[in-house]
Amino acid sequence: MLHLAGQDSRTLARRAGISLEDARRITGAVIGRGAPLRDARNVRRSVLDEVDALATPGELRLLEAVDARDGFRKYLFELPDGLRVETVRIPLYDTHHVVCLSSQAGCALGCAFCATAKLGLDRSLRSWEMVAQLLAVRADSQRPITGVVFMGQGEPFLNYDEVLAAAYALCDPAGARIDARRISISTAGVVPMIRRYTAEGHKFRLCISLNAAMPWKRRALMPVEQGFPLDELVEAIREHAALRGRVTLEYVMISGVNVGEEDAAALGRLLAGIPVRLNPIAVNDASGRYRPPDEDEWNAFRDALARELPGTPVVRRYSGGQDEHAACGMLASRRRGD
Ligand code: SF4
Repeated sequence: MLHLAGQDSRTLARRAGISLEDARRITGAVIGRGAPLRDARNVRRSVLDEVDALATPGELRLLEAVDARDGFRKYLFELPDGLRVETVRIPLYDTHHVVCLSSQAGCALGCAFCATAKLGLDRSLRSWEMVAQLLAVRADSQRPITGVVFMGQGEPFLNYDEVLAAAYALCDPAGARIDARRISISTAGVVPMIRRYTAEGHKFRLCISLNAAMPWKRRALMPVEQGFPLDELVEAIREHAALRGRVTLEYVMISGVNVGEEDAAALGRLLAGIPVRLNPIAVNDASGRYRPPDEDEWNAFRDALARELPGTPVVRRYSGGQDEHAACGMLASRRRGD
């Protein structure tokens, strides 16, 4: 019945032709409490039958959950067609969790530093398959889940409608009740969808994976640069910042590749006058091809960024869960039998 969890209560009411009140009660049961549809309280049996008839069966099967030494927990799920995706639970301040969801099984974008890229794309996930990841992690957790990031396997903006549907289901006050401002959607830079997202005025936080400020360098790390070049991407970032506020830029740091003085200077030129927040994170490359910067390299890069981008918040993200391959760029589940 979890496919009902793929939509917010307004959408459910519209699609099922039921009252918003009933839709909220059903959402409260299925998403809010993770209960079966039949457990929705104060909804007439005939309404439940109607909704039940619209639903197609489907469930996510938890195959495995492993804990990393630093408290990150990685889950492996099997989708109804046998494909597999991974989800990561990230501990925050010993009091709550953030969950990193996968939006596709595999990924087509081929970023050079990313394990998911090696899988290629199998398919995009339905919205309920994303919400179901959250519900399964929540059922396994003692602490509340107060944030969601669409930063797991896949490119969310190549599965735009389903990701947005899942995000609205997750922030529905009748359901999972996650503050929309604590839901982040990350893209490698699919410019037309960034523009669409900006124009539509969604309230979730937009994150863009930048990783290099020189086109040739970015192209080598992220083939998406060929289709959506840096100058167009920066214009889309400028537009979003002007209309919706500060954009978060993720920056995967690779020793000897993109953390030099010249990289900081290029970032300064590229982003001059645009309100952004820069989140550098050390690369996690299980193949060993790319190494993270050491402390000296990081300190020099951080100081250069402070000079080149004065006033821009630079917040290094912790790269956790590495011993269990739960860190950014390390999610590489396979389909059954591989
Ligand atoms: S970093 Fe993200 S967009 Fe790039 S290949 Fe990996 S999953 Fe896809």
